[in-house]
Parts: sequence; structure tokens; C-alpha cells
Amino acid sequence: MRLLILSRGAHLYSTQSLLRAARSRGHNTHVIDFLGCDIHVGAQPVILYEGRSLGHVDAILPRVGASHTDQGAAIIRQFELMGVVSGVSSEALLRARDKLRAYQLLAGEGLPIPRTAFSHALPEAESLIESVGGLPVVIKLLQGTHGMGVVLAETLPAARAVTEAFYAARQRFIVQEYIRESAGRDVRVLVVAGKVVAAMQRTSVGDDFRANLHLGGEGRRVSLTPEQSAIAVRAAEVMGLDVAGVDLLIANRGPLVLEVNASPGLEGIETAT
Ligand code: ADP
Ligand code: MG
Repeated sequence: MRLLILSRGAHLYSTQSLLRAARSRGHNTHVIDFLGCDIHVGAQPVILYEGRSLGHVDAILPRVGASHTDQGAAIIRQFELMGVVSGVSSEALLRARDKLRAYQLLAGEGLPIPRTAFSHALPEAESLIESVGGLPVVIKLLQGTHGMGVVLAETLPAARAVTEAFYAARQRFIVQEYIRESAGRDVRVLVVAGKVVAAMQRTSVGDDFRANLHLGGEGRRVSLTPEQSAIAVRAAEVMGLDVAGVDLLIANRGPLVLEVNASPGLEGIETAT
């Protein structure tokens, strides 16, 4: 097969890992930067890469970072129109990148999530906080990533200050129940084609409540309960993702889906497992 990995950086760990795996399976595989692709819209959709035709492509493996979601989705959509199979569909990518949209979908399908509230108006911080069960609360940007834009507010003045600042910066955000018993820990589950292929527990450094590896957190292999596995697999399915990094918070009332990543990093989980 002729495979293209769409990635902004050929040297990136995850890109290299996929490239090695694809080549070792005998696929003719190359990395291209999707920002170098031009699109001709029409009955015969065309993609040019650095001004030249790409020739026949069987499948693409997109690795689209959060700062280029829309550009990446447009290129993936063009490949889809050309009949090329994609490791992540343009729709699933867009779905996963908006935290509110993702939570609505997951909750609508009966998946357990932390209690979450949203308002378009400069929120009555108090009523949002009450609706998720009171202080402390986690306030997060809808399109944040790597733990940036995720804030723990323990007092009402702190919650007001954060919501006002996000509002003034015209950034949409959600207010979420703080799962105290899971502070500084979460579980990343890599789901591929409806199966769990790896899982790690992430632990933050110091007293940070955020367990993101990008913030220095550490990953360690963990085995899942059947309930945790089933929830992770179902979450990936609801989001329409064949490959997903599903993040779970382990609450006293059971596992909760925190996030479903459409372009999960491989370095942390390959190293840990
Ligand atoms: P990002 O997309 O930036 O990674 P997340 O929603 O995954 O945002 O939050 C980052 C980290 O913060 C999570 O991995 C988790 O450790 C912690 N966290 C987020 N929300 C909560 C919550 N409601 N309760 C407890 N910890 C949370
Ligand atoms: Mg996360």
C-alpha cells in the first residue's frame, strides 16, 4: 500500500514510530506536512503537495496537532473525497477537539463523565458552580490541550477571576466538578479498532492536579478493570475514532471519561508499556 503520514514534523517521535511500523509491514510510506498541501475543489478533487500531484494514495495516517485542527481537517476531508482511507476521519477529529461537543456526545450515549456546565453569557459563576455540585471546580478552555487552560478554582473569588479572564479573552470554557480523589492522576487508554492495546496511569509532578506528561507527569503501565476497558472502547466508538487515546479519571463512583484524544502521542505510552 502507498501510505502517507500527515504530520508537521517528520522527526517527531509518534511520526517516526508510525513510519517505522508501516515500513516494517512493507508499505510504501512517506511523511508530508499537511500545511504544504493545496486543494482543488471540484467534481474531480485534487491535492497538490509542494505544487506537485501526489499520485495514487491508498491511505493516510493524520497526526494533526491542536493548533492546526481546522487546516488538518480540511486536508483530510479532501483525501476522503478522493476515496482515500484515513486513520482518523475529518469529522471525528473536529468532534474530539471541542471539549463541550465531545462531552455532549459521550454523555448522550450514556458514558459517565464529570458533571460539566457551560454558558455563553458572562457566567453567573455561582450558578454554574452549583450546577456541578459546588466548589472546588475545574475551569477549562474548550480547546485547551496538554493541560494548558485547565485551572482548579477552590474559592468563589478565584472561580470568578478565572471565568472573567477567559470571558474577557473571548475564550469559551466549561466548569466541571473536581474529582478530588483522582487529583494528580489519570489513566490513558490507547484504543485501536475497538480494542485496548495499552494503558498507563499518569501521575503529576509535585502537587499539580493535572497529570499531563507535557507538564512533566510520569506514566506507568497499568492493567484495567473490565469496566474501565469497556468504557474506553465505547468512548472511542461514540467519537467515531478507530485510534483514540481515552483519558479516564478514577472516581469513587467509578471511571469517568475525561477526554478522547484523536491524535494520541505515542512516546509516553510506548515507553511506559
Ligand atoms: P487537556 O486537554 O489540556 O489535557 P484535560 O481535561 O485532559 O485537558 O485536563 C488535564 C488534566 O487535569 C487531566 O489529565 C487531569 O489530570 C486533570 N483534570 C482535568 N479535569 C479534572 C477534573 N474534573 N477533576 C480532577 N482532575 C482533572
Ligand atoms: Mg488531557
